[in-house]
Amino acid sequence: MMVSITMKYCSECGSEVSFVIPEGDNRERHVCDRCGVIHYINPRIIAGTLPVHEGRILLCRRAIEPRKGFWTLPAGFMENGETSAEAAARETIEEAEAEVRLHGLYTVFNLPHISQVYLFYRADLVDGQYGVGVESLETRLFDEQEIPWDELAFPTIHRTLRHYFRDRKLDHYPVHSEDLTPPYRKPQTDSQ
Ligand SMILES: [Zn+2]
Repeated sequence: MMVSITMKYCSECGSEVSFVIPEGDNRERHVCDRCGVIHYINPRIIAGTLPVHEGRILLCRRAIEPRKGFWTLPAGFMENGETSAEAAARETIEEAEAEVRLHGLYTVFNLPHISQVYLFYRADLVDGQYGVGVESLETRLFDEQEIPWDELAFPTIHRTLRHYFRDRKLDHYPVHSEDLTPPYRKPQTDSQ
């Protein structure tokens, strides 16, 4: 399934655009009928953190759709002009009012069906401080036994937490890169 991201009018001149294969290209693009500008629409990157404090994980309960009321790791769309690490740290401040120290890239997920790429960094909370950002209903630290597996917002969150608890037993945290496409694997089938 391809996600259809539609554009109706040219952002350069306001004329209508057509969805056609430009000369010399190999896939359809939005091309302006009047000025000929080709509008490239590329995947979006979502950056976030896995914030840990004294062995517990900071999760945020979403105040916004999609998946309002479900628990997530702090993450959001990268802005222009920032690095992925800066985006991850910024989103953690915005959603959980938590300043973090990053410990490197941890999980990478490709979601080609919705043209998104997720990046999560391991992190810990500076001074253990956190709060509730405007996009969150509540935030709290969870022990492994307390993780609300059935109330996690997205498969990317589920997979990142699974990897983390497994790797923590070995105190070894390699980067995990996965392609996630529906139907997503159920937690029960997620064995070693
Ligand atoms: Zn135009």
